[in-house]
Amino acid sequence: MKRKRILIIFVFIIIAVLFFKNYIFSNNNELKIPAIQVVKTNDYKPTHVPLLVNSENKAPDELPNDMVLVKVIDYVKTLNTDILLDKEAIIMLKEMFNAAADVGYTEFRVTEGYRTEEYQRALYDSAANKSLVALPGHSEHQTGLAVDISYNGINIENSKQGKWLMANAYKYGFILRYPKNKTHITGFPYEPWHYRYVGQPHAEYIHDNGLCLEEYIKIIQEDL
Ligand SMILES: [Zn+2]
Repeated sequence: MKRKRILIIFVFIIIAVLFFKNYIFSNNNELKIPAIQVVKTNDYKPTHVPLLVNSENKAPDELPNDMVLVKVIDYVKTLNTDILLDKEAIIMLKEMFNAAADVGYTEFRVTEGYRTEEYQRALYDSAANKSLVALPGHSEHQTGLAVDISYNGINIENSKQGKWLMANAYKYGFILRYPKNKTHITGFPYEPWHYRYVGQPHAEYIHDNGLCLEEYIKIIQEDL
């Protein structure tokens, strides 16, 4: 009798664990997107502050010497054959798209990558609504670390692909740079397509703590 009771309690615990596991991994999305397990190889020890470009912080005039810009089309699908991106970022982007494909999410397309200041100026000058376009010199795309992603050329917002990215991009060092609830800090409206490569341990910390890059940098600058 006692043994039966223990067995019932044990089965109950197993069911409860399974239930909560699914609940946590659903990431508050209506769609149940399977998440990929992260292997935490090192503790949180930032050694540098990620580059911050916004209305107050200008992009560096020149890219770092050790940065290699490569053609995005040589790695993943893109809408424009001329798009360039930092090599490390594109390698991780490819890994991320492969992981998404493994769970059934495909058809990602890169629509924007590295921009020169001249290109940003042209975009700004021709924009109908200038409040939606960064000033020349102040676009994150000038770092070579920012990428715009579409789903087959369509805005990924509300797509399964977009939701998967939002839940999993941090595992590959990417953050959603302009989240919905941070526009008062980032100065930018919600951009579900714009991801920024910051690498680890930054991306995971930012994601786990629900921060935007501005908030994160303020926190770690005090520790470094
Ligand atoms: Zn962008």
